[in-house]
Amino acid sequence: MNILYRINRKLYKLLHPELGCILMLHRVVAQRSEGENRELEITPGFLEQTIKDYKQKGFRFVSIDEVSEILEKGKMDKPFVCLTFDDGYRDNYTNALAILKKEQAPFTVYVTTGFIDNKQSMWWYPNERLGLSCDELLNLAAEPLCTIGAHTVTHPKLENLSIQEQRVEIKQSKQDLERLLGHSVNHFSYPHGSYNEDTIAIIEESGFHTALMAWGGVVRRGDNPMLLHRTILKQE
Ligand SMILES: [Zn+2]
Repeated sequence: MNILYRINRKLYKLLHPELGCILMLHRVVAQRSEGENRELEITPGFLEQTIKDYKQKGFRFVSIDEVSEILEKGKMDKPFVCLTFDDGYRDNYTNALAILKKEQAPFTVYVTTGFIDNKQSMWWYPNERLGLSCDELLNLAAEPLCTIGAHTVTHPKLENLSIQEQRVEIKQSKQDLERLLGHSVNHFSYPHGSYNEDTIAIIEESGFHTALMAWGGVVRRGDNPMLLHRTILKQE
């Protein structure tokens, strides 16, 4: 079985060449914390160096809309890299934006709407108020390099919810962001990387163009846009 799986996987890779990668990020902070949350945090210096390294290796930085187009075409001249930030931390605005602008790197922030203005706290950071304010979110969204994506209302593990509950989490977050921003929101990322068949059906019926997982590696020709792999950007 194991050998068969490996042969299948090799064949898939041969027939579906690598197009690029979508990097998953969370926080950008001057001082990284010591506990479990450390792996969600990178420093501004590390972010800047990562962008420079990818450029030097010949990668092209693209928006998530461009990833969608590249997948449709199935090819491109250079490998792409796409930056994505999950949850909606205010440090994306205060610490990352200046670097992203300086490097002219497009990026997407996937916002959990309950975290806006810290209506709901991020329970993995108890006693801290880390969410974007409504004004900060609007300022960020006004940046031409920035795309805002949806990331549910309360950040649940979607696979544990009923289909009705999932529908509310997904559709409500899309609608609330669209009302706030005044334009359509076309991209989604699964909180905790959690989904099931119902989730994908709701994502499709809601009209999203892409939805991102929380692991899996590179993006290949022919990949399902509703189940795109990501590469976690880790700082040692
Ligand atoms: Zn998240």
